[in-house]
Amino acid sequence: MATTTANEIKNGVVVGIAYVLTVDGVEMDEASANEPLEYLHGAENIVPGLEKALTGKKIGDKFSVTLQPADAYGDYDEENVDTIDRDDFPDADSIEPGMELLLEDEDGYMMEALVKEVLDDAIVLDFNDPLAGKVVTYDVEVVTLRPADEEELAHGHAHSMMEDEWDEDEDWDEE
Ligand code: ZN
Repeated sequence: MATTTANEIKNGVVVGIAYVLTVDGVEMDEASANEPLEYLHGAENIVPGLEKALTGKKIGDKFSVTLQPADAYGDYDEENVDTIDRDDFPDADSIEPGMELLLEDEDGYMMEALVKEVLDDAIVLDFNDPLAGKVVTYDVEVVTLRPADEEELAHGHAHSMMEDEWDEDEDWDEE
């Protein structure tokens, strides 16, 4: 049983937030108060600017924060755009610009890429986060707070609805 209580958001607290994420007024992502996003504060589970804005907040607090790319999903990096031989794709004929592909590298690490261009002999993939380079706005409500347990602190993430997803990849913390 946890003996400490969590009254406000600080490192080592598992926080549940409802939020709407918008870019230029267009909704990109959201979590409702019924199914809040749970994360471990201070463990870089969420973008740095949002984590910073949440520090010291209490249950019921609502706020809006607009973040530059450096405090959110990072700058768009041309180096994350790769041209790959068409022969490397068994299903190359079905690939079209704008598609999102899930790829596995030599180490078995899965990553998403956006198909930028389909050429005669190659396919151009963009590995940047879709929100890289964007100014993002979060409208947030703090829904739940609780102290993290020892296992959560050791793993560096909250164990809740996200548990399976996190723990599938044991190398997550070593990235
Ligand atoms: Zn875990």
